Amino acid sequence: MSERIYDLHCHSDQSDGILSPEALVSRAKSNDVTVLALTDHDTTKGLARAAAQAKKEGLTLIEGIEFSCQWLGRGIHIVGLNIDSSAPDLCDAVEKQENLRQERAEIIAQKLEKLGVENALEGARQQAGVGGVIGRPHFAQYLVESGYCKSVAHSFKKYLGAGKPGDVKQVWPEFEPMVAAIRSAGGIAVLAHPNKYKLTRTKLRAMLEDFKEIGGEGIEVVSGKQELNATRDMAMLAQQFDLLASCGSDFHVPNAPWQELGKFSRLPDNLAPVWSHWE
Ligand code: AMP
Ligand code: MN
Ligand code: MN
Ligand code: MN
Repeated sequence: MSERIYDLHCHSDQSDGILSPEALVSRAKSNDVTVLALTDHDTTKGLARAAAQAKKEGLTLIEGIEFSCQWLGRGIHIVGLNIDSSAPDLCDAVEKQENLRQERAEIIAQKLEKLGVENALEGARQQAGVGGVIGRPHFAQYLVESGYCKSVAHSFKKYLGAGKPGDVKQVWPEFEPMVAAIRSAGGIAVLAHPNKYKLTRTKLRAMLEDFKEIGGEGIEVVSGKQELNATRDMAMLAQQFDLLASCGSDFHVPNAPWQELGKFSRLPDNLAPVWSHWE
C-alpha cells in the first residue's frame, strides 16, 4: 500500500476558508492527501458535504472542528478530531459557539463603527456568505473591499489583530467545556498551533499541564510550513507531556504557499500519531 498522507486541519467557506467543502476535498485529493480532517472554526456545517465528496473521490474524511476558547484570558484554539458531529453534547456546544460568533461580530462591528467604519456587520456577513459563520477575516475582507484598508494584513494590523479593538476574545468559553464536548462526541482534543500564541515556555508548559488535566490528548506538532526548529520543539513537548502528535496545513485559501493542503513536513518518527486513536 502506498504511503498515507494526513492533513488534519483546514477550513472551508463554512468558516473563514475560501473553498467550498467539495472543492476543498478535491484540492486535497490532487495534493495526494489520503486522510483529511475538515476543522472549520466553531461549526460542523461543512462536514456532510465534505464527506460526500470524499466518498466520491476515494479519500478518508475525518470529522473535525476548531473551537475558539480561552485559557487565562488568552485566545486559544482546540481542534477536535474524529468527532461524531451528531453527538448531542457536541451539537449543543457548536450551537452555543455559533451564537457567540454572532454576538462577537456585533461587538466587533460596534467597535469599528466608533472608529469610523460604517456598515461593518452587514459587510462582514456578506463576506461570510449564506450560512457561513462570521470571523475576523470577513471583517478584514470588508475593510479592504470598502477602501478602509489596503490589504487583509493591514486590516489585522490596524483593527483586528492581537490587542487591537476588533480582537474580541472575552466572549469565548474556557477550554474545559470545549474539550469535554469533543470527548463526549468520541473525539480527541488537540491543542492547535501551540507556537502561534506567543507564550513564554513557562506559560506554554503551564497551559499543557492544565490541558492534560482536563482531558486534552493531542498537540499539533506540525502546523503548516514551519521551521524545523519549531517542529523539534513541539515534538519535545508532545513527548514530555505524553500527548498524541497531530499535523495539518491550516489551509484557508489557495496560493498561500505556507498553508497548502498536504504540504508540510512529516511528523518525527518517535511520536505517537493522533490517528493511532482511531485506526
Ligand atoms: P477569528 O476566528 O474570527 O478570531 O479569526 C481568526 C482567524 O483570522 C484565524 O484563524 C486566521 O484565519 C485569521 N488571521 C489571524 N491573524 C491574521 C493575520 N494577521 N492576517 C490574516 N489573517 C489572520
Ligand atoms: Mn481561520
Ligand atoms: Mn487556529
Ligand atoms: Mn485553523
